[in-house]
Amino acid sequence: MFPIRFICQCCKQPLKLNQSMEASGLETTQEPTASTLSAQWEPGETLERGPASKAETDTEKLQDSTSFSTLPGDDGKMSRDSSSNFILLGEFAPTSMLSNAQKTAGDIFDILTGERDVDHALCEDCTDKLLEELDTQLILTETENQNYKHWRKRIHDGELETLQEELEGLELEEARLAQELEEVEKNQKRVAEDLEAARAETQVLDQQDEQHWRDYRNLQWQQLELQDELTSRRNQLVHAQIQWDWLKKTNVFSATFEIRDDGPAGIINSFRLGYLPTVPVSWNEINMAWGQTALLLHALSNKIGLEFQRYQLFPCGNRSYLKSLTDDTIELPLFCNTGQITCLDVKFDLAMMAFLDCMQQFKEEAEKGEWGLCLPCKIHVENGLMEDSGSTGEFYSIRTRLNTEEQWTKALKLMLINFKCSLAWLSLKYCQK
Ligand SMILES: [Zn+2]
Repeated sequence: MFPIRFICQCCKQPLKLNQSMEASGLETTQEPTASTLSAQWEPGETLERGPASKAETDTEKLQDSTSFSTLPGDDGKMSRDSSSNFILLGEFAPTSMLSNAQKTAGDIFDILTGERDVDHALCEDCTDKLLEELDTQLILTETENQNYKHWRKRIHDGELETLQEELEGLELEEARLAQELEEVEKNQKRVAEDLEAARAETQVLDQQDEQHWRDYRNLQWQQLELQDELTSRRNQLVHAQIQWDWLKKTNVFSATFEIRDDGPAGIINSFRLGYLPTVPVSWNEINMAWGQTALLLHALSNKIGLEFQRYQLFPCGNRSYLKSLTDDTIELPLFCNTGQITCLDVKFDLAMMAFLDCMQQFKEEAEKGEWGLCLPCKIHVENGLMEDSGSTGEFYSIRTRLNTEEQWTKALKLMLINFKCSLAWLSLKYCQK
């Protein structure tokens, strides 16, 4: 068989086996494991199979050499690994050859199947370099370890007291904060109660506020109604004031009685007093005119406070009459139903003469005082005549008997003229007051 040459896995130089191994004649037929080689092998040497006695000696030497491969400062770990990685080829006795060969075959099988790592062989120089590098790394690691322990001790000694003080301070702060938290919780509870009370009060106040708003709106509504009523009353007052001012300027007599004398017959309140052949007037209108005239004389006498003597006047529309004060049985009608002027009742003539008597009493009473009345037509009560003293000075009888319609109508017209002057006198007198 050819000798096998091993190569250093670092520098790729052939390994040189030592003399004993070479002399033993150890011969392998397959690649040996790195653990079967020692650093004493020299490059260029060849393992050859040797006698059994020499192999035993070499085995002891190999074991000694592995014991010396223990690295300093590595706590013997590497030496243990190295010793376990070495495969002793065993005794070269014929009895152990078979078991060694089997064990070697098993190891080779494990390496081939990947169940075991291969330790590569190194030469002596590379081994020395490797040991130097490991020594350097060991020194650096020890230095770092010492520095680490040193600073760890300093940190522990220096900051422990500070941390203790800080811890005490934090504990005090924690206690203070706990107490503060308790107070805050108490305050929160009290504030919650106050808030609840405030909410209840707010609800009551809201209800009161709503009630007040309702009252306010009702009062506002009443105010508007009262304002409207006040405005209405003021308008009524203004209207009443205007009416009052108008009424103060109004003469009730002038407003009540309107006398016109521009026609052939006198007219009072649209009723003609008189009768002419050319102007026929119904007796009903004449009676109404007499009623208005009687009412006027009655009002005038009352105005000046006159009470008639001998007669009492009863103005009753178209049924007015006079009653004698000396004889209660005598009633003189100031109206006539039908008939011609010349054929009328004598009582009608007596009534008209009695009316003239009353008118004369009013004239005499009204003439008294500062603002005395002055009538344009004189009255002759005894004969029942009216004197046109203003123009012609003629006399006209108011009686129908022995009289003409024109004369009678003229006398009545003069009588209305006197009344018209009386109304003007009355207005002037009492408006001055
Ligand atoms: Zn090498």
